[in-house]
Amino acid sequence: MTNDPFRLDGQLALVTGGGSGLGLAISQAFVTAGAKVIITGRREDRLKQAVAQLGPAAGYVPHDVTDLDSIPGMVALVEERWQPVDILVNNAGIHIKKLAVDTDAADLQQMMQTHLFGAFQLSRECGRRMAARQRGSIVMILSMAAMFGIPQVAAYTAAKSALLGLTRALAVELSPQNVRVNAIAPGWIETDMSRGALENDPAREQKILGRTPMNRLGEPLDIGYAAVFLCSPAAKFVTGVILPVDGGASIGF
Ligand code: NDP
Repeated sequence: MTNDPFRLDGQLALVTGGGSGLGLAISQAFVTAGAKVIITGRREDRLKQAVAQLGPAAGYVPHDVTDLDSIPGMVALVEERWQPVDILVNNAGIHIKKLAVDTDAADLQQMMQTHLFGAFQLSRECGRRMAARQRGSIVMILSMAAMFGIPQVAAYTAAKSALLGLTRALAVELSPQNVRVNAIAPGWIETDMSRGALENDPAREQKILGRTPMNRLGEPLDIGYAAVFLCSPAAKFVTGVILPVDGGASIGF
């Protein structure tokens, strides 16, 4: 234990989609900062591999965030088996690349269920418990799609924009109980998801790099370190912010 305000010693973080990509990097950064981390996701093999990589401070619960009825039970199980949840990161996500005119109701439904409904209900469940303890931090993972219009991702954009609004609404309701609610808006970061979105689309990649002053994709740990800051005592007066971690993409010309 140290008094370093940038550390998370003794805290427990629940990270959805923590078995891969940004969720795994956020979990790694949390463990390095002294936290225990419980990761969730649908693929148990992926979760097991991730926990082996993260070490003894990590555990997992197989869970599909679209299974909304199971959310209160899942949070209760984590708190009983380990300890109260101090940090929730709503990171689990999927990507559908289609023009809006080709996006059907099932696509939209799946996108909203994963990004918005899951995050809303998990935040409500954890937020209620955190508020009773007068301590906690919730982080939403947004996207550049919540900052400006990007073609071929209308359903994803709708879901991420809803999460942006939810971040602000939860921040005003929960911050009086010392539960801070913030969001990270990642730019384009090297993961399976971004590889899938950019595969066979060099024009899109060029466009992204062209508007990113740092002229490269980010690394998953860039998002991890930002999450550590937002959840640490160093950010104790920070709530309701949308922090772009994007190499400047959101302000690039
Ligand atoms: P990955 O595809 O690597 O990770 C997504 C994770 O979410 C997986 O671990 C997956 O696990 C999990 N997941 C998906 N659906 C569900 C579900 N229904 N229930 C539980 N877990 C689920 O992508 P990224 O790491 O890139 O994406 C993570 C987040 O970051 C997403 O919200 C994404 O929108 C966002 N983002 C990513 C950017 C990038 O450039 N990479 C840019 C901006 C935002 P499993 O399949 O086992 O369930």
